[in-house]
Amino acid sequence: MGLVTTRAVVLQTYRYSETSKILRLMTWELGPCSALARGALRPRSRFGGLLEPFVEGEATFYSREGRDLHTLSNFELLRDRRGLDRSITLFTIASVLCELVMRLAPEHGDEELYRTLTAGLDGLHGRAREEAPAIGLEYVWGVVDALGFRPETERCVGCRNPIGATGARFDFEAGGLRCGTCGPIGPELDPAELDTLRVLVSGGAAGRNRGNGRQGRWLAEFIRHHVAEGAQLKSLPFLSRLG
Ligand SMILES: [Zn+2]
Repeated sequence: MGLVTTRAVVLQTYRYSETSKILRLMTWELGPCSALARGALRPRSRFGGLLEPFVEGEATFYSREGRDLHTLSNFELLRDRRGLDRSITLFTIASVLCELVMRLAPEHGDEELYRTLTAGLDGLHGRAREEAPAIGLEYVWGVVDALGFRPETERCVGCRNPIGATGARFDFEAGGLRCGTCGPIGPELDPAELDTLRVLVSGGAAGRNRGNGRQGRWLAEFIRHHVAEGAQLKSLPFLSRLG
């Protein structure tokens, strides 16, 4: 493949030797990639301390067929989102977005997923800490949707009848809502909760999110059962407390 230049977001970094770092990147062109940044930890590194989670740049690396680890040769800053680490809540939500992408993104470029991830990180950056729970749910549902796991909230996952008067339960394993006559599986939603959930999964505005402490838990359960399929995501316990 040779030399590749592509927009890329740093999802996570690992120390490698005394002076180098391994980066997990979400790239525009190739999807998720790993790259070795030689000398990134040296005081006068040409990468200038930029290679931190959430930062986006134009990355150039040498890519060889059949090798998972590329060698980063250049990184031109596009969006510096390092300020997110000033709030533990905003930082953790951003980490949730990155962890989902890192674990579940398809092994090829995915423009919608890339855009959803970066819109979420931009939306979090510069927000007040108090807004974090509401916008957090919205952005995490957005990434779940872009990964192809939007829950069914209009028709029952059992009988396919419209969800409505007979009540609604969230069947996490089946990936959506179940009507009142199809067996009591999962927690029951009242009409307001159903309304909020539908707004959130369709990428709705944060202002309409009337979280009552259960939406975060449902999102975490949905990811655990239906999206991650048993994979332990470090960020799930945090999501449960989001609101
Ligand atoms: Zn049903």
